[in-house]
Amino acid sequence: MSQQFDVVVIGGGPGGYVAAIRAAQLGFSTACVDAYKNPEGKASLGGTCLNVGCIPSKALLQSSENFHAIQHDFAKHGISVDGAKMDVATMLDRKNGIITKNAGGIAFLFKKNKVANIHGLATLKSRQGEKWIIEVVDNGAVVDTLEAGHVIIATGSNPRQLPGLPTDNQIVLDNAGALALADVPARLGVIGAGVIGLEMGSVWKRLGADVTILEAMPTFLAAADQQIAKEAFKSLTKDTGLDIKLGVKIGEISKGANGVTVNYELNGEAVKAEFDKLIVAIGRVPNTGGLGADNVNLQLDERGFVVVDDHCHTNLPNVWAIGDVVRGPMLAHKASEEGVAVAERIAGQKPHVDFGVIPWVIYTSPEIAWVGKTEEQLKAEGIEYKKGTSGFAANGRALGLGHAQGTVKLLACAKTDRILGLHMIGPMVSELVTEGVVSMEFKAASEDLARIVHAHPSLSEVVHEAALAADKRALHG
Ligand code: FAD
Repeated sequence: MSQQFDVVVIGGGPGGYVAAIRAAQLGFSTACVDAYKNPEGKASLGGTCLNVGCIPSKALLQSSENFHAIQHDFAKHGISVDGAKMDVATMLDRKNGIITKNAGGIAFLFKKNKVANIHGLATLKSRQGEKWIIEVVDNGAVVDTLEAGHVIIATGSNPRQLPGLPTDNQIVLDNAGALALADVPARLGVIGAGVIGLEMGSVWKRLGADVTILEAMPTFLAAADQQIAKEAFKSLTKDTGLDIKLGVKIGEISKGANGVTVNYELNGEAVKAEFDKLIVAIGRVPNTGGLGADNVNLQLDERGFVVVDDHCHTNLPNVWAIGDVVRGPMLAHKASEEGVAVAERIAGQKPHVDFGVIPWVIYTSPEIAWVGKTEEQLKAEGIEYKKGTSGFAANGRALGLGHAQGTVKLLACAKTDRILGLHMIGPMVSELVTEGVVSMEFKAASEDLARIVHAHPSLSEVVHEAALAADKRALHG
């Protein structure tokens, strides 16, 4: 006997669980099917983001920052600590506790909103009349058959593997392995200087590992504004101590019982590097395995993403797809916003996700964040712009925090003054970037931001100064 729902969401990550809650709020009978099991074999909602992504990485970043601060910053405050030690097992327990708490929170929200919480791998089987038939399998057995008026696919992504070097999460690690190392490795190699490589490299570097990051691209953080990227490169190599090598051509990699040998070429020279552990962070691929795309002729593109239109509708009637499994940035907040928009569209509303105003954050220390166009993009598009920059060096709040390093750069249209981009590196810029997001959503001019009262002393004063600087009237510049 199959269960019937108006909406079945496949995947319980930040795209899927949010879509399910919103659909239920709008009055639809809704189920969310998620296949993830944690290392103890228990179902844990929240997808990549909560279980092996955004949240655990930020927990470890904070632990490692605290350890680093004790060793390098506390003395400046007159605090002396002798014999500070890092207990990795306790750090991992804390991280796991955060995951358990938040996963339980999602299960609670499902109950509260009457979303049926179904564990297992969901496969699209067929269309019967107006209904989609979905089979749910767990531990090799069919545990449920569902009938759905609408299906929202939110199956996320998996780490891309290096050809011929499968991840074992003992020596060759993906994000899950990098977040669960039982000890600090002496020599850690990271392939890929993207967000995940930089964040994971920072964690283990601060805890004492010797970290080398190998990046194929000759440009550091090519998607970021290059003024900010250059400052970030300097800070991460000099202050954090990451050894980042750009323009590397990876050759043969051989894995032994205790480590990995990576052969690579840099500036025409052959290099052989030995690592105890190797993190492979070379991007992520859409996850459609087990979904049954072929059963129902769901259209995938040549890279395996589910093909959708501007409103996340697939080629099939009443089948939608959101998050990492479709085009666009692989970010949790993008997945969630698409989830809300799809649920509201099913309800006949006309929601809109503004892809031009999605914030990006890299949680290194200092943090890097941006929204909107970079200077390079504006130049390439022939858009005349003006810019204002301001630094954290003299900001009273930043000095008090002991993190007075970094820059904010505001870009505005030369003709209309409308803000086109806000780029920053510095303390807590993950929070400050929202000022740019809100301003841009409200189509603000740099003049608007310059005239808004900002609290003193606060880090946000640097954003204010950047807006003033765009009109050449910075007060502290
Ligand atoms: P996912 O979170 O991947 O969830 C998909 C879920 O669907 C999974 O639970 C999966 O098991 C399940 N599933 C798959 N197929 C099926 C099926 N057939 N049946 C049932 N269930 C299925 N993003 C940010 O915005 N900020 C960050 O700071 C950030 N940090 C990150 C750090 C790391 C280390 C990593 C790896 C990623 C990070 N991301 C971050 C990216 C973020 O995790 C993803 O963009 C986000 O999780 C995508 O959400 P989603 O709902 O599309 O998919």
